[in-house]
Amino acid sequence: MRSRTALALVSLVLTATVACEEILAEVTAPPEEERAARRPRRPRNRRQNTAPQLPQPQYQQPQGQQPAFAPSTVGPIVNRLRVTFVDVGQGDAALLETADGHSALIDAGPPEGDEHLRALLAQKGIRTLDWMLLTHPHLDHIGGARNVLGAVRVQRVIDPAYPHPIATYDRLLAAIQQQAIPFVPARQGQTLALGAGVSVEVLQPRLPFIDRSRSEANANSIVTRVIAGAVRVLFTGDAETETEERLLAENRAQLAADVLKVAHHGSRYASTQPFLSAVSARAAVISCGAGNDYGHPHAETLAALARNNVQVYRTDQQGDVELSTDGARYQFRATPWRVPSAAMR
Ligand SMILES: [Zn+2]
Repeated sequence: MRSRTALALVSLVLTATVACEEILAEVTAPPEEERAARRPRRPRNRRQNTAPQLPQPQYQQPQGQQPAFAPSTVGPIVNRLRVTFVDVGQGDAALLETADGHSALIDAGPPEGDEHLRALLAQKGIRTLDWMLLTHPHLDHIGGARNVLGAVRVQRVIDPAYPHPIATYDRLLAAIQQQAIPFVPARQGQTLALGAGVSVEVLQPRLPFIDRSRSEANANSIVTRVIAGAVRVLFTGDAETETEERLLAENRAQLAADVLKVAHHGSRYASTQPFLSAVSARAAVISCGAGNDYGHPHAETLAALARNNVQVYRTDQQGDVELSTDGARYQFRATPWRVPSAAMR
């Protein structure tokens, strides 16, 4: 089975280079000096368990299940980039749309989120995706991918090319091959194009893959930083602690971001303090299903984000979470929760 997957992957590899309505909060991306000043300083006494003192964000922290969000005060943002963290239940899918009509997908959610994902693409009138990037071959990230290929034209599929013998992945690779869609392994150092004024840096994985981890498929997730003007969004897939260690060692300068897609649905096996400090995000999105069986997001991760004064948005509580930016300011909106979690069906 493994060799069949590996063979399918090899046959797909064409080239390793890619030329390739409620306002929740609105924030202006701060200049670099301010970002540096905002980065938490390590307490002098490490045993002293106090949160670093940071300037307060411009919006209110959510209270309880239904957060109260400050409305926009600076008018509508002319979008350079819109990112919709789609409520696909327990999994990840984020739709990227640019002002000049380009779009791409980072992950395609689990099978139970597929209907909503395709409905969203149809509702937005998206018939072509510049690329579909699958961070790693687990069901909660690739489960909807084959149906997306059936619903819209995908110009390129990007994935880690990490052999993972599950039937869903084999069938997906077969569909990619059948449709003759260029398949590109994501590797550190690549840049993916997505319309004017938006670029996507591939930070990880690289070869050799991480081979000692709790989950090697997770650990070799594609990590990307999407850049739209001064606004940066870091996508981490289901990164593990080992991924974060590699990122800190090899990509430290590229980790700084305004918005963090929290790794692995808020699992305790990622989002370490050194990583959160290097990213220094003001806002974060957790993509997970309500009442999921994994206990995501874990309390430790939520506590770590709170200690770092990161405003958290959650698809299990707020439905589709939409981030839009003109390249200087960004704002969040949410639409009602739609996809029932597997546990509730
Ligand atoms: Zn996952």
